[in-house]
Parts: sequence; C-alpha cells; structure tokens
Amino acid sequence: MKVEDFISNRARIVDGSGIRKMSELSQNMIKSINLSVGQPDFDVPSNIIEAMYLAAKEGKNKYPPTQGIDELRRKILEKKNIKNSDIDVVITPGATAAIFIALTTCFNEQDEILIADPYYVQYIEMLKILNIRPSIVDTYPDFKLSVEKIKRYITPKTKGIIINSPNNPTGVLLKNNELEEILQYARNNNLVVIYDEIYKDYNFSKEKINLADIYNNVIVINGFSKSYAMTGWRLGYAIANKIIVERMTRIQAQIYTSAASIIQYGAIEALDTDMTLFIDTYKERHKYVKNNLSKYYNISNSEGGFYFFVEVPKELNMTATEFCKYAITKNLVLIPGKVFSQYDTHFRFSICQNIKELKDAINILKLIKEKVK
Ligand code: PLP
Repeated sequence: MKVEDFISNRARIVDGSGIRKMSELSQNMIKSINLSVGQPDFDVPSNIIEAMYLAAKEGKNKYPPTQGIDELRRKILEKKNIKNSDIDVVITPGATAAIFIALTTCFNEQDEILIADPYYVQYIEMLKILNIRPSIVDTYPDFKLSVEKIKRYITPKTKGIIINSPNNPTGVLLKNNELEEILQYARNNNLVVIYDEIYKDYNFSKEKINLADIYNNVIVINGFSKSYAMTGWRLGYAIANKIIVERMTRIQAQIYTSAASIIQYGAIEALDTDMTLFIDTYKERHKYVKNNLSKYYNISNSEGGFYFFVEVPKELNMTATEFCKYAITKNLVLIPGKVFSQYDTHFRFSICQNIKELKDAINILKLIKEKVK
C-alpha cells in the first residue's frame, strides 16, 4: 500500500488553507505588503501576559475543569450581562473549537445548514469533516444576510444557520433589527443558530449590537483571538442553553479535554483590560481605507471586523485569483474571493497593517487599475 492509501475519505476532502497558499506565494518577497492576514498587528497587552505567567508560577498547571475555570465562565456571563440561569458557557481552545463542537453537538450527518456566501472558510471545511451539508445562501451584491435571501434556500432538511457578523471576509455588520428578524425567522422554523461574533469589538458603526436574548436555539461563539491579539493562545467560548452547553462539554472532554489552564487565567485579566486604544487604531484605519480605496474600487459596505471585500474591476477582465497573482508581482498580497465564495470576482483586503502600509497598498491597487486598463 502507498502511504496515501492510509488517508481516510474524510481527510482527503479537506482543503488546505487558501489563505496560507497565497501567503506562501509571497514568502520569498522581501518587501511585500501582506494584506492576507486576519490577526491584529499589536501584541497581547503585558498585564494579560503577566497574569498568565503568574498562574503558571502559582502552579495552576494541572487539568482545569473541562467546561472552563469557574471564575472565567462567571466573568464572561457577567460581562455579557446574562442573568438567565438557563444560559451557560463552555470555554474552548479557540472559537474554532467552539464552532466545531457546536456543529458536532447539534447536527447529524446529512442535515443541512445555511451558510452565507461569502463565508469564513473553516465553516465549509468543518462541515465536510462532519458530513453536514452546506446550503449556500448567495448574499451578493450587498453581502447582507436577510430573511428574504434565506427563504430562497431553506428546505425541509435545513436544521440550522451560521451567522457571522461583523463578517469575514466582507466586514458587513447586521444591525440589531436585521439580526433579530433573522433570529425570529430561525425560531419560527426551528433552526439552530450558530452566531459567530468573534469581531464584535471591532464594530465601527454607531450602533451597539446586542442580542435581545439568547434563545434556546442560539449558540453564541466568541473568543480572545481578535479582541486581545491572542490568536496564538487559542481561547474561545460558546454561550448557549445549559442543556446544549452540557452536551458540548461532554464532546469537548473527549476531543480536547479542556482549554489550556494558564491561558484561561490570562483571559480573566483580559476581560478587565481596556482595549479602546487598540480598537480606535483599527477604527481609524477602517475609515482611511473606506474613504480612499472607494475612490478607485467598488468595496463592500464594511462596518466592522478587519476586512473589506473588493470587486475586481470588470474592465480588467480578470478573475480575482488572476488579479491577486498579478498583485503579488507588485508586492501586494491579497486573498482572492474564490477562497471564501463560489464566485471569484472579489478579493479580501485586511486592515491589520499600519496606515502607511495601507496607503501604499491602495496606491498599488490604483496603479494596477490604471495600468491594466
Ligand atoms: N470565526 C471567524 C469568522 C474568524 O474569522 C476566525 C478567525 O479568523 C475564527 C472564527 C477563529 O477564531 P479562533 O482564533 O478563536 O479560533
């Protein structure tokens, strides 16, 4: 037998990261501007690092409870102002794990789940692993998920929906009334909602977004990667009805055991850390890109998160993949829409670089448009 023959069907159909492939293409370029990144460019604040370090020094190095350390769980619920005792939280190794466990807990093989296109890539790959069927909801051209769009794709087999707002890769934000409308529709149709709000703190609109309630069919996903630049620390959580959380915890026990102990102590400190200065830097960049890139390109109505989804000008007659490969020759790394979508017409532009780099990137894009025309 060849080594490849040892690989399961499941493992064969899982794709490597398209984002990583694009970054790899640019690895040997010395002075490239890398806008493929989806992680903050600031470091974890030092008080959080200290708290994590202190926990290790104090011997908090043994297995923590599977569901997560009590103090952290309490604090998360408190910060979210959740007083309903039917709602609980499970701490996971990253939001990624929270999503995977939520899917495993609530969906059977062959169930259908609605996913807005463009989507966060990992959702699709997780569904492949779990043999859950994605029902792709086309949200072009405004990228806003709505009941009207959902109705076009729902079938008797549909069991749930994943909502991601602010969205990766479009930055589009669902306002409270838009979100509530979808949640109400989901309740009426007995759909499980996985609500991924990992970019919640990067909300650049005037409206503060809050779920009216966490109903029995909703699982809220969040984590520490984006808000505290803790991407490498791997910490996330899911908030849901305690019956769901209890089942999720059982699954977590068998796959991950728990999230890492000392990281959870760091997270307790994180929740008391004021991140306004960091978020404001992103707000400023977001505004800069919105005002300047839109002079040359058609951009998504991004109101949050790290991204703009930008249309490749039709007159260039290029797919987004071709466009991004061309941009690399001009030292600019972007991610083609194909990675996030059934269409290859847009690219993702990330604001996780300083204003100078963003300015240079916009300049390169301006020149590409003028030159190729
Ligand atoms: N959900 C979305 C929409 C994301 O963009 C990401 C990371 O890029 C995640 C979840 C995963 O976050 P974590 O690092 O907590 O696993």
